[in-house]
Amino acid sequence: MAMLQAKHPGESEYLQAVQEVLESIEEIYNQHPEFEKAKIVERMVEPDRIFTFRVTWVDDRGEVQSNLGYRVQFNSAIGPYKGGLRFHRAVTPSMLKFLGFEQTFKNALTTLPMGGAKGGSDFDPVGKSDAEIMRFCQAFMLELWRCIGPDQDIPAGDVGVGGREIGFLNGMYQKLAREYHTGVLTGKGATWGGSILRPEATGFGALYFTQHLLHKAGKDIKDKKVVISGFGNVAWGAVKKAMQLGAKVVAISGPDGVCVVPDGMTAEMNDYMLDMRASNRNMVEDMAVKFPGKAQFIAGKKAWSVPCDIALPCAFQNELSEDDAKELKANGCWCCCEVSNMGCQPGAIHFFQNNGILFAPGKAVNAGGVATSGLEMTQNAAHLSWTAQEVDDRLHQIMQSIHEQCVKFGTRADGSVDYVKGANIAGFMKVATAMLEQGII
Ligand code: GLU
Repeated sequence: MAMLQAKHPGESEYLQAVQEVLESIEEIYNQHPEFEKAKIVERMVEPDRIFTFRVTWVDDRGEVQSNLGYRVQFNSAIGPYKGGLRFHRAVTPSMLKFLGFEQTFKNALTTLPMGGAKGGSDFDPVGKSDAEIMRFCQAFMLELWRCIGPDQDIPAGDVGVGGREIGFLNGMYQKLAREYHTGVLTGKGATWGGSILRPEATGFGALYFTQHLLHKAGKDIKDKKVVISGFGNVAWGAVKKAMQLGAKVVAISGPDGVCVVPDGMTAEMNDYMLDMRASNRNMVEDMAVKFPGKAQFIAGKKAWSVPCDIALPCAFQNELSEDDAKELKANGCWCCCEVSNMGCQPGAIHFFQNNGILFAPGKAVNAGGVATSGLEMTQNAAHLSWTAQEVDDRLHQIMQSIHEQCVKFGTRADGSVDYVKGANIAGFMKVATAMLEQGII
């Protein structure tokens, strides 16, 4: 860590992600001198390569705009680079390096052959028109297309990149590459190579994982009160599945505040989340305006201030602090499954773990998204598409297997499970073994 800090000063998210993994694997790493000899850790913590490029486009007023674009190809030991694209004003190389690093372990956990990558831009979608989004995506792909390919690197969505953006990106890729296969991006529309259930997959997978975790702890999700941060694609799928499983979603939140829904969200409210995302307004208050009497907006408050059993962070890294964790506990919360990538700050995770609150990390909980991207790649390669039932069954199996891997590597002497340790060791062992077996490259 000291070496990395000296080499990459100020890259706080990246250093935080690496620190968490190294702490978890220390013991097992020291039992494997062959890893040490091949300098596996030193090699694994640095990305294979990073592409950085300028993206220039023209806004609706005719003004020239310039952004930075990136693709971080982190690790390809177990398969082609795979991971999403994030469009957000705060995107930096540090953020994408942390995400690419996490993705490498997450993808290893899915049991599918996918390496880790992440990309994106500091382009801010908030307040942009559809035409501006399209022009930006086209300009972004003008640079990115040389770096990717169905057997090299397969991007997908992440924060700020959903089905609409993947459509614009794919259209431009085909135009530039003059290749009309369907395998270079995942999260495509259902009529042009996309997998059924991909939009729902991250949220659905997270709830399947939560079910297994609760089951192991002798509990059940039915009738439990759930609070969720965010109202993007991931939160949307999580709300949908939580409702299907009989839980009551009593709050969703956004950057402007929280919407409290005392009687639980309805299917209509869940559908409206899609309009909220498509509007690019980034305001959760819109839910309370649309459903007066059912949802109550409180400005400046987080979802963590609402009494609940289960908390599901579904928005952004470090969105849940130690103080939030204490507030959750005081409000009766006894389980937190992290759905966003690194959604909880280290202090929050330690507080949960030291206070008997069930906790599982994003790289295990949210892996259903990229796993279903892997299933989309399989369908594309075979030139066919599976039914919703087939995709859902496989997603469920994968989430069960991820839970089993966490239990295998994370069970403590008292029989409880350290899901952070379990997920990190399981992912690490797979990537480290693959690197070792393929020599010093
Ligand atoms: N961005 C998602 C993640 O964090 C999905 C990546 C993908 O489907 O490639 O895992």
